[in-house]
Amino acid sequence: MTTSIRLLPCLTDNYGVLVHDPATGATASIDAPEPGLILSALDENGWTLSHLLITHHHADHIQGGPELKARFPALKVVGPAKEAAQIGFLDTLVREGDTVRVGSLEARVIDTPGHTRGQVNYHFPGEALAFTGDTLFSLGCGRAFEAPYAVLWSSLVKLAALPGETKVYCGHEYTQANARFALTIEPDNPALKARAEEVARLRAENRPTLPTTIAAERAANPFLRAAAPSVQAAVGMAGADPADVFAEIRARKDRF
Ligand SMILES: [Zn+2]
Repeated sequence: MTTSIRLLPCLTDNYGVLVHDPATGATASIDAPEPGLILSALDENGWTLSHLLITHHHADHIQGGPELKARFPALKVVGPAKEAAQIGFLDTLVREGDTVRVGSLEARVIDTPGHTRGQVNYHFPGEALAFTGDTLFSLGCGRAFEAPYAVLWSSLVKLAALPGETKVYCGHEYTQANARFALTIEPDNPALKARAEEVARLRAENRPTLPTTIAAERAANPFLRAAAPSVQAAVGMAGADPADVFAEIRARKDRF
C-alpha cells in the first residue's frame, strides 16, 4: 500500500499536508496552519491524527497546534529543538540527523536555519518525500529573517543534494510570483520557461503547483543555481563564491 498525501490549501497562501501510512493507520500533519481544514480532511478520509510535525515557529505554521492537541490527546507533536521555547507545545524536540517515525514511515530531520534560526525540514527517504517548510519554495526560497544569507544558502545546498526524484511540499503557494522573479535572472532557461508556463496554467485553474521535485528545482530555481555559470553571469558575478551569488539573488528578490 502506498502512502497517501493530502495537500490542503489554508489561510491566504499556506499549505497544510497530511501524510497517511495505510499499513498502520498513522497520520501526520505537517504544520498546523488552519485546524478546521485539517480536521475536515481527516474526517473525509476517516483518519485519526497521530503526529504533528512542525517546521518552524511562525504563527501561520503552528497556530492550530493547541486545538489539534486538545482534539487528539495521544497526538505526538514533533518540532525543532532550537525553537522549543517559541513554539511551547512540542512533545519531542528534534535536530539534524534525528529519525521521526510515523507508523511504519521514517523521516530524517534536516536542520535548515535561515528563514528562522532553528527551522527543521523532514525527509522521508523511503517515500521520496520532503517537507521543506519555508526554507525551499518552488522556484524560490524563504526570506532570511533570522540568519545571514550564507546560513540559508548552506541549508538550501543540503536540500538540493536530496535525490532528484524526491517530491517536495513547501509551506506556501508562492510559485507564480517566484516564477516572475526567476525569469529576471534566467529568462532563457528552458526548464524555467516550461515550469513558468505550467504554473500559469495551474494557477489559472486555481490548482496547486505542488508537489515539485528536487530535480525540477535544481533545473529551474535560481536560488539553487547560484553555482551555475548562466546565473553567475546574469548577476555579473562570474566565478564568484556561490554563497555570495545566492546572497545577491536573495537581496534582489527582497527588493523585487
Ligand atoms: Zn515562516
